[in-house]
Amino acid sequence: MGTAGNDAVLGRRGRLGRRGLLLVLSSPSGAGKTTITRRLVELEGEEVTISVSHTTRPKRPDEIDGRDYHFVDEAGFARLRDRGAFLEHAEVFGHWYGTARDPVESAVEAGRDVIFDIDWQGSQQLAEAVRGDLVRIFILPPSLEALEQRLKRRAQDSAAVVAQRMSRAGDEMRHYDEYDYVVVNAALEQAVNDVRSILRAERLRRGRLRGLDDFVAGLTKGAEPPAG
Ligand code: 5GP
Repeated sequence: MGTAGNDAVLGRRGRLGRRGLLLVLSSPSGAGKTTITRRLVELEGEEVTISVSHTTRPKRPDEIDGRDYHFVDEAGFARLRDRGAFLEHAEVFGHWYGTARDPVESAVEAGRDVIFDIDWQGSQQLAEAVRGDLVRIFILPPSLEALEQRLKRRAQDSAAVVAQRMSRAGDEMRHYDEYDYVVVNAALEQAVNDVRSILRAERLRRGRLRGLDDFVAGLTKGAEPPAG
């Protein structure tokens, strides 16, 4: 294979094809992971997609079914779970949440990255289910005060819900050491940049690249190692 053959291995942007990765962003509620996730999608475009979970939690006023979650009742959730439709599922704040398997597998095969906004329990289950495809980032707030302010500003949840989420924040944050990377969200754009840097580097991991053996064979053809 000559240079022309090697060009054929490279995609439109002069890059090798690759398998997509599963990017898990976890944090206590209010640390900004949903905002970071949306920003990533704006900036990365087609190459990333957000995994839309199923949940039995009631819809918040500004949420859209199918965009933020697939809202289902307990019986519907149980049916999907029993059918093995979930890659992972967990109970959080008294409601069920789960990640459907099929959309994730087809995106990864197509070379797109799937971003997950799931808690530490889901992250642990995903690690068992997918291993090498998984990259885990934990988002921390700059302080407990900042976290509380963000939860109150969101103002969609009642005071009781804010208090419950604050008391769970400590439990959630204690799981930071199960993650590959930690990003402190003190300033949104900086945090988004940090996450993008991780994503860019992880995309270039040798094991994710497709056609690499052929590509290097094309590059080294005719260049025999020196004798002796
Ligand atoms: P919220 O109700 O505020 O949208 O989410 C509550 C918690 O559930 C968050 O910590 C969120 O990361 C987590 N969560 C959302 N979707 C899933 C999921 O599919 N699986 C798991 N394990 N957790 C989820």
